[in-house]
Amino acid sequence: MTEAADLAPIREAVRALCADFPGEYWRRLDRERAYPEEFVAALTKAGFLAALIPEEYGGSGLSMTAAAAIMEEIQASGCNGAACHAQMYTMGTVLRHGSAAQKQKYLPGIARGELRLQAFGVTEPTSGTDTLGLRTTATLDGEHYVVNGQKIWTSRAEHSDLMLLLARTTPREAAKSRTAGLSVFLIDMRTAKGDGLTIRPIRTMMNHATTEVFFENMRVPADNLIGAEGEGFRYILSGMNAERILIAAECIGDAKWFIDKAASYARERVVFGRPIGQNQGVQFPIARAYIGMRAAELMVREAAGLYEAGKDCGAEANMAKHLAAEASWAAADMCVQTHGGFGFAEEFDIERKFRETRLYTVAPISTNLILSYVAEHVLGLPRSY
Ligand SMILES: Cc1cc2nc3c(=O)[nH]c(=O)nc-3n(C[C@H](O)[C@H](O)[C@H](O)COP(=O)(O)OP(=O)(O)OC[C@H]3O[C@@H](n4cnc5c(N)ncnc54)[C@H](O)[C@@H]3O)c2cc1C
Repeated sequence: MTEAADLAPIREAVRALCADFPGEYWRRLDRERAYPEEFVAALTKAGFLAALIPEEYGGSGLSMTAAAAIMEEIQASGCNGAACHAQMYTMGTVLRHGSAAQKQKYLPGIARGELRLQAFGVTEPTSGTDTLGLRTTATLDGEHYVVNGQKIWTSRAEHSDLMLLLARTTPREAAKSRTAGLSVFLIDMRTAKGDGLTIRPIRTMMNHATTEVFFENMRVPADNLIGAEGEGFRYILSGMNAERILIAAECIGDAKWFIDKAASYARERVVFGRPIGQNQGVQFPIARAYIGMRAAELMVREAAGLYEAGKDCGAEANMAKHLAAEASWAAADMCVQTHGGFGFAEEFDIERKFRETRLYTVAPISTNLILSYVAEHVLGLPRSY
């Protein structure tokens, strides 16, 4: 499956933008665990983060394939799109399930980048992957919902104006079905901070701006409920395919970066009087990583194609995310091995990218849960959890 040639200008434009943010930039931020403000501002100004917002709301109205190409190029350039990838897809829940008034109120500002909607509050410390077991509650009180509870791993909360929050509005035992009773809210964190909302950063092995957030009697206008009360789990699921495809594309970009670095080094590094890449023991792992990346890339394209055709792509989006995350991690490991000791040196950027790409077999969904999905929904095996 080949990609439409008309994406070449987009790919080139992303590459050109990323060239202004070289390794030194990311190394400094990594040391300081600082947010790449300038990089995110440049991507916003160029309109790349509004790729999936329809033109009627001021976005570029591009396809999922084009959006995936943008994320892939960011990573293949050595940059880190995790700082802002959620700005691209979190708005999808508002776009698909929000009211006309909500879309008009929020989407143009998100498209211009004046409003950042890149915080997604789903995971909680006690329930983890078991989303239906989440404990944060939202209780209607007149014109407001009152939210109490806690989220963890809410990435970019400190760098976002709005948060998409999943909370329980009907107790589990009283809900009309296993998946009912959860609702989605748009939280305006600019007003909620210090007024029921507390955000605490979590320092992680890579520079990811992730946090834990606490809600204590946080009042949310009832108008900020997205769609129907109790249907939130379904809405969140419908947004996950986009997230998985885009993050899979990022993994493909990472894998390309690692493979390119390794092949260049293996051609140039001379030991025992010849390039190390002349040894099959060095070249085969690079070739293997390349083959794995290309196979994963095909699945990403397949998933993106189905998504933009409006077809069910749950299996393909999951498989794309799985294959791409495995391919980027295999390429990262290979790249360190190819560089020997230099793979560990900060100035080569490999150890940084190695830490960054490690995330994707765990988040936004871990490998086991993808395997469970395929086992149950594609192969018809009994549900295991
Ligand atoms: C850096 C980072 C950023 C993140 N950003 C966000 C974010 O912005 N918003 C958000 O909501 N979440 C976010 N997450 C959360 C992420 O989606 C979860 O960490 C991930 O889904 C796994 O959940 P958990 O950590 O609670 O692990 P657990 O659910 O505790 O699982 C631990 C391990 O057990 C395995 N496991 C659990 N149940 C089963 C089962 N039934 N069968 C087989 N294996 C099982 C899992 O696969 C995993 O390997 C982020 C996480 C990280 C680390």
